[in-house]
Amino acid sequence: MPHASVLEAVGLTARELQAGALAVRSPIDGAQVASVRETTLAEMPEVVAKSQAAFRAWRETPAPRRGELARLLGEELRAAKEALGALVTLETGKIISEGQGEVQEMIDICDFAAGLSRQLYGRTIASERPGHRMSETWHPMGPCGVITAFNFPVAVWSWNAALALVCGDPVIWKPSEKTPLTAMATMKIMERALARFGHDAPDGLTQLVIGGADLGDALASSRDVPIISATGSTRMGSIVGPKVTARFGRPILELGGNNAMIVAPSADLELAVRAIVFSAVGTSGQRCTSLRRLIAHRSIREELLARLAGAYSGLAIGDPRDEGVLVGPLIDQRARDAMMQALEKARGEGGAVAGGEDVSAGVPSGGHYVRPAIVAMPAQTATVTVETFAPILYVMHYEAFEEAIALHNNVPQGLSSCIFTQDIREAECFLSAVGSDCGIANVNIGPSGAEVGGAFGGEKETGGGRESGSDAWKGYMRRQTSTVNYSAALPLAQGVKFDL
Ligand code: NAD
Repeated sequence: MPHASVLEAVGLTARELQAGALAVRSPIDGAQVASVRETTLAEMPEVVAKSQAAFRAWRETPAPRRGELARLLGEELRAAKEALGALVTLETGKIISEGQGEVQEMIDICDFAAGLSRQLYGRTIASERPGHRMSETWHPMGPCGVITAFNFPVAVWSWNAALALVCGDPVIWKPSEKTPLTAMATMKIMERALARFGHDAPDGLTQLVIGGADLGDALASSRDVPIISATGSTRMGSIVGPKVTARFGRPILELGGNNAMIVAPSADLELAVRAIVFSAVGTSGQRCTSLRRLIAHRSIREELLARLAGAYSGLAIGDPRDEGVLVGPLIDQRARDAMMQALEKARGEGGAVAGGEDVSAGVPSGGHYVRPAIVAMPAQTATVTVETFAPILYVMHYEAFEEAIALHNNVPQGLSSCIFTQDIREAECFLSAVGSDCGIANVNIGPSGAEVGGAFGGEKETGGGRESGSDAWKGYMRRQTSTVNYSAALPLAQGVKFDL
């Protein structure tokens, strides 16, 4: 579908698309598709004030009623799935099924949040004092600022927004400056859900601000935005995290990963190869959970490399809108240059590089298309420990299982991880306290492609935040512990006497 038809299908008007100076290009062919208006810094205080006013009303709306908004958003997303998915492809260069998959993830989290709205459970706690009852209650916290990265331009907002809204928190969204159009289209879908929801949704419940790091900084610095959920590079998190903490706000940080797979001698290599190819080259290596390091047992390393070379040689690289294409473009020239620099460094550290060339034949001109690279490394060198947001797979080897775990954990990031093995001891050890140090650890499944039901996030330089399923909702609420005395006496805890 031509770009103009994709933009029209999501309801973006010619006026909205030409309202300002922020140029938006499609990575598919480098074409400038819009020039949108940026929010100014001077407008930010009003945005925050509106969100605070919305909070005062929304926190009083019963949670199951708030859940109805998540349900309606899910319905509207179902209706808009194809159109929004196509826009994700246009703006990020993901292949069609990944663009659609991203919208499906939004729908899934809306379903999850609608159910969650009746399950914001607290606990009842046994009191040591007679005639007393203790309990915990979860209350809304306030506006939630959501700063998102270019590579999941809409799903990450929905992971945060669906939960925050159900938890009673208004949302202010600052998408990546590289992907404002998907955000604008998503807000239109949200507006349709709000219109159906009715009058008890306050003005300013969900807002969008468009622009760069300065707007993100304004959110991170505002005392009136108690929660900041920031997704992006470790560099960004190292600035935003301390800013939010310094004003005693609550940061939820979802930062870079450097995800690995251990392939043991007993592994089903057929399965492993399929998992490796999907997670290393899917989204052109531009997922936070992309597979970047392969740690293969020496006995199967050569066979694995040969099979991977075969699989990589058949990869269809090209226009992500074309059927059968598996590898689309990188987001921009900078990403392409960073890939080439990393490969050059890896060569200097003794790596044998296969692939990694620019691709110009059979792809739209104007985009940055590359052949995914496999780099056989003599060791886990400095370059391997850095996240390069591109399809580079470094391959190392090990002899003893403990060595594999040590290599695996010896990087600064801690997002996603996996092992391919049929040995139950190795599998359980990998998942144990002495195994993978990541937030996500899988067995016989690659590191990417998480479901919304689990808490998503990672440790170390990945930031420690959790989003999406399980009890991640607690990050969007404040906990209150209450003790009620229904006796006629006033005993003190710990047996303290203070008689007047
Ligand atoms: P980025 O860090 O360049 O930008 C991310 C967002 O942060 C953008 O909206 C940007 O405008 C904003 N930002 C940048 N500097 C800021 C500052 N000083 N203050 C406030 N806001 C600031 O990242 P990117 O290139 O868009 O995305 C790729 C990175 O995101 C990778 O490192 C990837 O691993 C990571 N990522 C992590 C997850 C996760 O869940 N852990 C998910 C997706 C992407």
